Amino acid sequence: MPETILEIKGLNAHYRDFQALYGVDMTVAAGEVLAIIGANGAGKTTLMRSISGLMANGAGQIRYRGNDISGLRADQVAATGIALVPEGRQLFRSLSVEENLIIGGQIGRKGPWNVQAVFKLFPILAERRAVPATSLSGGQQQMVAIGRALMANPDLILFDEISLGLAPIIIKDIYAALPGIIGEGMSALIVEQDITKALSVSNRLYCLQEGRVSLEGVSGAVSRAEISRAYFGME
Ligand code: ATP
Repeated sequence: MPETILEIKGLNAHYRDFQALYGVDMTVAAGEVLAIIGANGAGKTTLMRSISGLMANGAGQIRYRGNDISGLRADQVAATGIALVPEGRQLFRSLSVEENLIIGGQIGRKGPWNVQAVFKLFPILAERRAVPATSLSGGQQQMVAIGRALMANPDLILFDEISLGLAPIIIKDIYAALPGIIGEGMSALIVEQDITKALSVSNRLYCLQEGRVSLEGVSGAVSRAEISRAYFGME
C-alpha cells in the first residue's frame, strides 16, 4: 500500500456563521489522483482553500505527512509541499508570464520544476514570456497558474476547477499535459465539473453535497447512478 500523505478528519469550515463543510473525511496516498466533484456550492473550493491554509480550521483536522497543518498559514502550507492552482487563476496582473512563474518558485523547494521545465510543458508560454500574464487568453492564463504552482516543486497539487470556462481545445491541451505533471509520484486533487473527465483522470473520487462527502469510491467502480444520487441528492 502506498503511504498516506494527506489525512483529513472531521473537517469543518465556516464563513462567519455559515458552515460550508461538515465533518469531511478524506485520505490521499502518494502518487494518487483524486477527483472532487459536486454541484455548485457543494464546498469543493472551500475544501481546497482549507487544505491550502486559506481558511481557519480546527486543530488536528488536516494532517500532511503526519504533521498537523490545520493551523498553518498559506505560505507555511506551501513550504510543506502543497501547491494550489486556484479557481479563477489569480495571477499577478502587473507581472509578466515569466515573473508570475518565478514568484511560484520563491518558496525555495528543490525538485524538477523550473521556468525552463514549465516552458517545455507549455511551449506557448515561452513565446509569451515577457507579456503581462493577464493579457493572455483564459487557457494560457490557466497554464501560467499551473506552471506557477509547479515552480514550488510540490508533492501534492490541488487544481480547483481545472477546466472551468476554457475552450474544449485548451482543456484537451491541459489534460494532455497532466501525466507529465503528475508523473514521478506527485499526488493531485482535481476539482472538475465534467464527470467523464474527472473519472478518466483519477484513481478515486469524492463527491461533496452541501458540505458533506456524499460518495467516495474507486473511479472505475462507481456507477453513473451512484454519482447522480451523490451529486444531486436524488433517489
Ligand atoms: P462552485 O462550483 O460554485 O465554486 P463549490 O463546490 O466550490 O462551488 P464553495 O465555493 O466551496 O463551493 O462554497 C460552499 C458554500 O460556501 C456555498 O454555499 C457558498 O455560497 C458559501 N461560500 C463560499 N465562499 C463564501 C464566502 N466568502 N462567504 C460566505 N459564504 C461563502
